[in-house]
Amino acid sequence: MIVSSADFKLGLDQPVQFVKGIGPVRATALAEAGVHQVADLLYYFPRRYLDRRNVVLIRDLKVGEQATIIGQVTGRGMRRSKSRPLFQVTISDGTGTLPCLWFRHSEWIRGRFQVGDRVAVHGKVEFYRKPQMIHPDFDLLDQTEDPLNTGRIIALYPGTAALRATGLDSRRFRRVIRACWERLVPVADHFSIEFRREYSLSELAEALRTIHDPLDEAALDGARFRLKFDEHFFLQLLMALRRRSLEELPGRKFPERGEITESIYRSLPFQLTAAQIRVMREIRADLQSGKMMNRLLQGEVGSGKTVLALLTAAIVAREKCQVAVMAPTEILAEQHYRAFKALSAGVDLPLALLTGGTPKERRAEILQGLKAGSLPLVIGTHALIQEDVIFKELALIIVDEQHRFGVLQRGRLLEKGYYPHVLAMTATPIPRTLAITYHGDMDVSLLDELPANRGKITTRVLQPEQLQKAYQLMRGELQQGRQCFVVYPVISESEKGDLKAAEEGYLLLSRDVFPEFEVGYLHGRMKSAHKESVMEAFQGGKLQLLVSTTVIEVGIDVPNATVMLIENAERFGLTQIHQLRGRIGRGELPGHCLLLRRGGAEETTARLAILERTSNGFEIADEDLKLRGPGELFGARQHGYMKFRLANLIEDGPIIRLARQAAFDLVRADQNLSRGEHRALKQVFMHKYQPQLDFINLR
Ligand code: ADP
Ligand code: MG
Repeated sequence: MIVSSADFKLGLDQPVQFVKGIGPVRATALAEAGVHQVADLLYYFPRRYLDRRNVVLIRDLKVGEQATIIGQVTGRGMRRSKSRPLFQVTISDGTGTLPCLWFRHSEWIRGRFQVGDRVAVHGKVEFYRKPQMIHPDFDLLDQTEDPLNTGRIIALYPGTAALRATGLDSRRFRRVIRACWERLVPVADHFSIEFRREYSLSELAEALRTIHDPLDEAALDGARFRLKFDEHFFLQLLMALRRRSLEELPGRKFPERGEITESIYRSLPFQLTAAQIRVMREIRADLQSGKMMNRLLQGEVGSGKTVLALLTAAIVAREKCQVAVMAPTEILAEQHYRAFKALSAGVDLPLALLTGGTPKERRAEILQGLKAGSLPLVIGTHALIQEDVIFKELALIIVDEQHRFGVLQRGRLLEKGYYPHVLAMTATPIPRTLAITYHGDMDVSLLDELPANRGKITTRVLQPEQLQKAYQLMRGELQQGRQCFVVYPVISESEKGDLKAAEEGYLLLSRDVFPEFEVGYLHGRMKSAHKESVMEAFQGGKLQLLVSTTVIEVGIDVPNATVMLIENAERFGLTQIHQLRGRIGRGELPGHCLLLRRGGAEETTARLAILERTSNGFEIADEDLKLRGPGELFGARQHGYMKFRLANLIEDGPIIRLARQAAFDLVRADQNLSRGEHRALKQVFMHKYQPQLDFINLR
């Protein structure tokens, strides 16, 4: 189709190739970056901005700092250096000249710069006879685009190699987007004027225009607010609709506490904490309500979640219904199994452990029991969601460390029952803004109190030269009959190098450092029977020192263990260390957590020192979130629908709360988004979240 008419209008759903400046080659490169339609182009947001406030004059450059300067190319060419030829561009801004050097340079880079071009360069200021920058980031500017002289804020775009190869740099991008607006049909807003007024949102078209070409800082803030709000809003709308749908689902009623629960309760070797009692009431209210329970139990390591899981399971089991408890690792599943067994020793509550390592015959027996309904309680790993695991009457599922499971895995377990109640547990302290994003459709119970009989854990960051002192402390504890952990970072169990370090550590400790004690070794790639026997030996006191990888992160409960030495602590996330140290101080004895720092950046010691200061998991998680982003807290298994363009879970707390309120209010007023004024919004929502609608019923 050839369109040449002057009044040709560009629609949002048209291919980007219709935009002036984009031919087939660029369209292909854009498609690789996820930009297919005109709308995608408008939502391809700048990665940052140049404005006069972040531009420095060459004369004011400070060595060692990151800086942005704007100037004119006054020279370019190859220069000989000792090793290999390097490419140099000289930039001048009227206050001085700055050489920019490339030791690695492609033809593409060399072809970028012409004498007379206006450019912005960003990089660290180095010094060799005079200030210079090495391999700086750079952007070409149009003659009129100079934040210093025109006061404009200039958008810089994320590039890809493919985009650069077609010459689509930030400057071209700005031109293309400008060209796009010249022909664009009016962009409709999915929010009504009243809605926008209520939440102080600017108009969509204006926000989109401004994000690419802001007049000033205030305008940019307004645009960002609006566009971030959009992203959070639709996710919260998903949460609100899920919640509304869940509330409509029937749930089997369990009005009685029942004698099994009561006798377990009576035989507990301790008193429940006030927090445990409160949470138990919340759970019981759910089970009595006739609606499906969908509750997240959040509690610090050691706060006593397991016993609540058991008490809840017993309520359901008594009614001839079944309970499945799913844990993310075999070790954890075994631990739960043992804890359940011990706490229910005196009562009639058959239970079984089902993992990948369960022998064939035993497995067949368990499956038979589940199908016939004679086995009320099964504890296991992913092995529980296999197809041939069939329940007669699954009425409750308990998921431990729930964020470690994908949404699908949990879903599969759900399908094995008829709207089973769900109790999810997590020891990962999730800051509130994250919790309402990740678990926004669940009720949350907080176990914010540790049992009173806990020994105090002292945490210290050590430098390598203090290692002997650490060994001394460990020896003292071992001689008194206590046990110790030494943990090595094996970030991924398939990392051979990491595993080797752990193994060498084990050999060193067992042969040279602590030859007089029994030292065991545990890592994730061992056969499960082997793992189990090591764990049992440690738990039973046959091993005194356990060298391990992070497989012990969750679950292990050995009250006699009093010292944990963490090797290469700089390689761990703070939350991870916090979880690890939850393995000690589980009895009444005081514990010591020693963080051996062997490397890492300057800030590492300060970062680790946070753990010396506080044992509040929320505070620690907040720090982690700031330093390392949400991925760290949630492992590799990020939710697919959490891909934000602009939104930032760390900074957007107030926007998230506002968007959540707006979404929940909207669903309260219009359950199915069926009102005329919500039509546009519903369309956007459906388009965004189609795959996540699973059980949401939008009539
Ligand atoms: P987590 O919440 O980390 O899963 P657990 O449920 O494993 O913690 O409990 C840790 C330890 O504390 C277990 O040995 C458990 O028996 C014990 N425990 C649980 N509740 C109490 C309590 N109220 N008082 C004393 N000890 C308790
Ligand atoms: Mg636990």
